[in-house]
Amino acid sequence: TLPALEDHVDVLIVGAGPAGLMLANWLSRFDIKTRIVDKRGTKIFNGQADGLQSRTLEILDSFDFVDRVWRESNHMIEICLWNPDENGKIRRSDRIPDTIPGISRFQQVVLHQGRIERFFLDSIKEHSDIAVERGVLPTAFEFDDAKAADFAAYPITVTVRTLSEEDAMPQQQQQHHKNDDGQEAPVSDGLFRSNLAADDTDDLIRAAETNARINQAESIKAKFVVGCDGAHSWVRRQLGYKLEGDSTDYIWGVLDIIPITDFPDIRQRCAIHSASAGSVMVIPRENKLVRLYIQLQATEHGQNGGKVDRSGITPEIILRSAQQILHPYKLDYSYCDWWTAYQIGQRVGNCFSLKERVFLAGDAVHTHSPKAGQGMNVSMQDTYNLGWKLAHVVKGYSDASILKTYETERKQIAQELIAFDHRFSRLFSGRPAKDVMDEEGISMSEFKAAFEKGNEFASGIAVNYSSSVIIAKQSDAKVQSNQVIGKQQLATGIVVGKRMPSVKVLNQSDARPWHLQELLKSNGRWRIIVFPGQLATRTNMQRMQELGAKLGAQDSFIRRYTPLEQSFDSVIEILTVHAGSRKDVELLDLPEAFHPFDNKIGWDYWKVYADDQSYHEGHGQAYANYGIDSAQGASIIVRPDQYPYRLSSL
Ligand code: FAD
Repeated sequence: TLPALEDHVDVLIVGAGPAGLMLANWLSRFDIKTRIVDKRGTKIFNGQADGLQSRTLEILDSFDFVDRVWRESNHMIEICLWNPDENGKIRRSDRIPDTIPGISRFQQVVLHQGRIERFFLDSIKEHSDIAVERGVLPTAFEFDDAKAADFAAYPITVTVRTLSEEDAMPQQQQQHHKNDDGQEAPVSDGLFRSNLAADDTDDLIRAAETNARINQAESIKAKFVVGCDGAHSWVRRQLGYKLEGDSTDYIWGVLDIIPITDFPDIRQRCAIHSASAGSVMVIPRENKLVRLYIQLQATEHGQNGGKVDRSGITPEIILRSAQQILHPYKLDYSYCDWWTAYQIGQRVGNCFSLKERVFLAGDAVHTHSPKAGQGMNVSMQDTYNLGWKLAHVVKGYSDASILKTYETERKQIAQELIAFDHRFSRLFSGRPAKDVMDEEGISMSEFKAAFEKGNEFASGIAVNYSSSVIIAKQSDAKVQSNQVIGKQQLATGIVVGKRMPSVKVLNQSDARPWHLQELLKSNGRWRIIVFPGQLATRTNMQRMQELGAKLGAQDSFIRRYTPLEQSFDSVIEILTVHAGSRKDVELLDLPEAFHPFDNKIGWDYWKVYADDQSYHEGHGQAYANYGIDSAQGASIIVRPDQYPYRLSSL
């Protein structure tokens, strides 16, 4: 056997699905040593998750590639609800907006997971030399408890082995077509990665070890390990952690086809309840595709491990169920892009981390149905929450205590998600009530109300993190002009713990309108957004001069947290949005802290904005929308992931 290699890394990511790639992408923005391994020989090319909610699009925008998603995806604007009439024939009963109007500048879209993974890979490559190591499988895990509290130490050792090509690419069936990377690929039966197939990790580990001579083992010493390795998570197993929750698993059939049909709403998102043939969710997709989701059956977990005979599930069975539900409308296809069946219960991990050194994210800590299109979103948002915290601790910008907030923040979301999915599942899958006396049936007005309410949750905008070292919700009342100002009253339209809402503001120097959120790039910086009010008012301008002097002083907290060799704004950036006319203010009249100077590139013209009328894109009314009094002003400290940490008076 060849001698084992050894490497030291800051972060080792296991699994390159949406959760793992989001994390690698975050870490690519910092100069820290990261490796990411995946047991599969290729990324996925089609199918699997496809829904992208508003919040996810905001996040992808902060990484500069939402435009690719926005252009290629199908935009879901309206939902149609179909129910049986008094004769049992389905009819359209309601139309509701798919995304609550005004909740975000992005509406929900659909694009398959393989494309999203492609965009992440491109973004990671552009910013770093991190590359996904495919066909690489962890085979052993050790944790040195004695080193857990020393954040300069490497307490984790993971042994990895490279799989042979065949092991890394299990057989798939059927015909070939061109995938999104332009290569010939089999039409995946989707069962390839489905959890209806037994987890093959142990078989792969055995195969890798018997092939020891060709597959040299490597020992990776890591400061942090993040298990993004899906519902069967190997990392979770090493920690001995469990997913807890419902004992029932549902089998979902998913079919991606170009439909040939006379059903009038095939290009709308539809929830269709038939009188007695079940329900189908119709999701119009990119490239003329339509996805059908059908809940095929339920199994009690525990009997035969809760597994069903997957060979009994075929695209024809899924199509036949859909045809029965859609009757008397006709549905058929000649092109099927992908199909799958997979088994899912509603479960949440009991622990998300081992001593803040090993973390679990995505499907490794929560599983739920695909109906509300949450899987990929919540998984990516887990590691969006974790990535900057890990990077800041590795870089020494932050105390390691911030890492505890990963579990408190994301477990809360996972639990809310499971509760939401639970309620929604019953309403989606139940038989519609025949009349008000039919207590076993589902009331369609209740379904509609749940759908509307669920849409706020499903947009991702409703996330509201609780108080912690990095969420200061409590109001520290302050007396100003004989008035007691509680913090939340300083900006009634901004909720500490909920992502910073966005309105348009004008760049002071060139008059270009920007959505404020566009200025909050995911580059790891904390931000202080100063709302000084009207700068034409002498007292406000004077207050701004004093604040600028304080922030720019040699002993200011900004300089304390910023390494000497880095630029003034590299850890904490100050943005200003003043009320009133751009024309009443000159950038260079403001203290340097608000538009820092650099010997090579001069003044920074991208830090000061006005809440003013634009020439072509209206008036964002930032002060009115954020509920900030333009006489008092306010400042908002925003985390690197766009969540306000605290509101303060000036
Ligand atoms: P995953 O996407 O599962 O990624 C995990 C990655 O880890 C994979 O690349 C895997 O190869 C790798 N991995 C696993 N074990 C190891 C190991 N031991 N070592 C190294 N690497 C490992 N959601 C929907 O919303 N709609 C759908 O229609 C839908 N269909 C689905 C169909 C299938 C077959 C599956 C499996 C899931 C489906 N989902 C769907 C769920 C959705 O794909 C997930 O919620 C989402 O992908 C979760 O992202 P993740 O990164 O946490 O995990």
